[in-house]
Amino acid sequence: MSGSIAVVGAGPGGLTAAMLLAGRGYRVKVFEKADRVGGRSAAITESGFSFDTGPTFLMMTFILREMFQEVGRNLDDYCTVMPLDPMYRLNFKDVSFDPSRDNEVTYQRIRDTFAGEESGYRKLLKRESVRYRYMYPCLQKPYGNPFSMLSPRLLRALPHLSAGRSLYSVLGNYFKNDNLRISFTFQAKYLGMSPWNCPGLYAMIPFIEHNFGVDHVKGGLSAISEAMARVIKEDGGEILTSTPVSRILTDGRGRATGVMLPDGSKEEYDAVVLNADFGYAAEKMFEEGVIRKWTPSRLDRSNYSCSTYMLYLGMDKIWDEPHHQIVLADDYRRNITEIMGEKILSEDVSVYVRNASVTDPTLAPDGHSALYVLVPVPNTRAPISWDDDCRREFRERVIARIADRTSIKDLEDHIVFQKEITPADWRDEYSIYQGATFNLGHNIRQMLYFRPHNRFEEVGNCYLVGGGTHPGSGLPTIYESARISSDLIRRDLPQ
Ligand SMILES: Cc1cc2nc3c(=O)[nH]c(=O)nc-3n(C[C@H](O)[C@H](O)[C@H](O)COP(=O)(O)OP(=O)(O)OC[C@H]3O[C@@H](n4cnc5c(N)ncnc54)[C@H](O)[C@@H]3O)c2cc1C
Repeated sequence: MSGSIAVVGAGPGGLTAAMLLAGRGYRVKVFEKADRVGGRSAAITESGFSFDTGPTFLMMTFILREMFQEVGRNLDDYCTVMPLDPMYRLNFKDVSFDPSRDNEVTYQRIRDTFAGEESGYRKLLKRESVRYRYMYPCLQKPYGNPFSMLSPRLLRALPHLSAGRSLYSVLGNYFKNDNLRISFTFQAKYLGMSPWNCPGLYAMIPFIEHNFGVDHVKGGLSAISEAMARVIKEDGGEILTSTPVSRILTDGRGRATGVMLPDGSKEEYDAVVLNADFGYAAEKMFEEGVIRKWTPSRLDRSNYSCSTYMLYLGMDKIWDEPHHQIVLADDYRRNITEIMGEKILSEDVSVYVRNASVTDPTLAPDGHSALYVLVPVPNTRAPISWDDDCRREFRERVIARIADRTSIKDLEDHIVFQKEITPADWRDEYSIYQGATFNLGHNIRQMLYFRPHNRFEEVGNCYLVGGGTHPGSGLPTIYESARISSDLIRRDLPQ
């Protein structure tokens, strides 16, 4: 049939692409191997508790709004967006800082806590708004051939790349105090990177946060995926959960022709949108010999993000702690070096605690709360066993850190539900290459033209979406990847 598209994976990338394509009149069928939509953004639900598996910070909500507008919908008819203020707490050993979505309030808080540094904040907002204005549009275009790297848009943005400088170094333009510099560079962790290695151009991320704010969605960010699934179905698309694709079928000219399911049955499509984790898909989902560039050895040599150790805790009480709280290691730089460089588990851990029940009572039964704990750790390239002893010891360390730095002292006494995900689980159960939860690294050599292309360069009729392709990991850029790939499909296969 003409205009038929198979979407492999119902993560945010696959769902956004399916929504845009179904809205544009393509016949779309989504194949999802899990029993629910959302991928790393799906809900974990148990005994009345609901946790987001992964994303909890929604930024640049206007990009998500645009995706819904493109198919004639209003996001607010499908989801309740809740702006957060303060956006989060940064909990250092001897000081706390709660950035507000109101820049004036943040300015005052910097003046009160880091006296003498406040003018750097105004300077940052002004300078980084310019970088954002030049750089962000470059992320919204495909880079399918080397000449695309010479586009006037990208050339104009070059002076704003801060080439050769790290994010931490760029923040030195604004602040001297180390804790304050960390407060505006810890965002490198959104990309699974170190502030000391993350390209300086990502100084636009703290700007984006402070300019547009951080939002929550009632019911959790998984509600976005569920809303997209609704729109896809309203527009005639089909979504099959618990339906893994075992192979992307190709013809003799290396063009995708359809998908094969585990029972050996084959379905033909005009194009395939691939949302499964890139490294995993390139290694496992094609006939031998089809992938010539992203070979197993190149995949292995590439640079990947860190991983995360996760605890999802159903509690029989509600803690008086902020919605988002980042508890930073006593020596944050050492902690990051251990994760990214030495690839060992730190004694002195940083822990992100999300206590969303203080804003959103729908996440847990009455009087209960859903606590989400994320600890950045090395990906599975590191020789860490994650066996029972390793997990038990690490869990104790994480809980001790929370007790030491917050009012959550007797956490163990209040747990009524618990789930744990280790890097080995991300790799084995979630099919994530090297358990690198934030995909291929975002160093300059793996960005733009150097990242796997949206119109997949190895297989015709195959389009990539999600964190493993351009523009990269994080919900807004993942939505952009889907928009770029859907636009390419519209150009290649006009309806
Ligand atoms: C712990 C964690 C925290 C994060 N926090 C944030 C945050 O706060 N804010 C933010 O913006 N981003 C965050 N991210 C990053 C990113 O937004 C999410 O990882 C996002 O879910 C990635 O979307 P995706 O579409 O690339 O892939 P995924 O969500 O991984 O979706 C891929 C889908 O493909 C399916 N699949 C795989 N193989 C097959 C197959 N063979 N057949 C059929 N289906 C298949 C998978 O089951 C999955 O559903 C976080 C990520 C993690 C892991």
